[in-house]
Amino acid sequence: LARNEDLATLIRTIPDYPTAGILFRDVSTLLLDGRGFRAAIDRMIATIDPVDIDLIAGIEARGFIVASAMSYALAKGKIMLRKPGKLPGNVVGMDYALEYGTDRLEMHVGAVSPGQKVLIVDDLIATGGTAQAGVALLRGQGALVLQARFLVDLPDLGGGDRLRAQGIETDALCS
Ligand code: IMP
Repeated sequence: LARNEDLATLIRTIPDYPTAGILFRDVSTLLLDGRGFRAAIDRMIATIDPVDIDLIAGIEARGFIVASAMSYALAKGKIMLRKPGKLPGNVVGMDYALEYGTDRLEMHVGAVSPGQKVLIVDDLIATGGTAQAGVALLRGQGALVLQARFLVDLPDLGGGDRLRAQGIETDALCS
């Protein structure tokens, strides 16, 4: 597993999930491979400078797995960006558009202090709508969202470029 291309082979593609015509990138096979997952997290960590990060924000649910491993390795705290109704404290929320319908992310008020530097992570970025909702929530609380990391970027869908246009340095292990 010397190269990112080799790690990419651990992520399988499932046709017609969740609906016909969609090629779903399934990271569960990477998660099954202990050495592969460690290598993936190590690669992602190698692309960031820890002094640029106060907190790591993970997006429910697979983003939590990535955020958790990175936060353990870097000894940084983490923020859960969750689906509606899951967080027990006072929350702020952001609705965002999906291809069909809308979704919503929430975070605890007070999870981040104004001026703290936050790295946002998820398993995959497609259109970027989900990550942008997270960025809006975090920035709404005064956070500086300067970097984003993903296991997979689907560049044809433009999400990475949308984050970069917002001043967020964005990178992924594979595409
Ligand atoms: P976006 O909002 O269009 O960028 O979609 C990204 C969000 O949807 C992330 O939270 C992903 O976990 C999820 N997602 C979209 N497509 C896939 C896929 O092919 N595999 C795994 N997750 C996906």
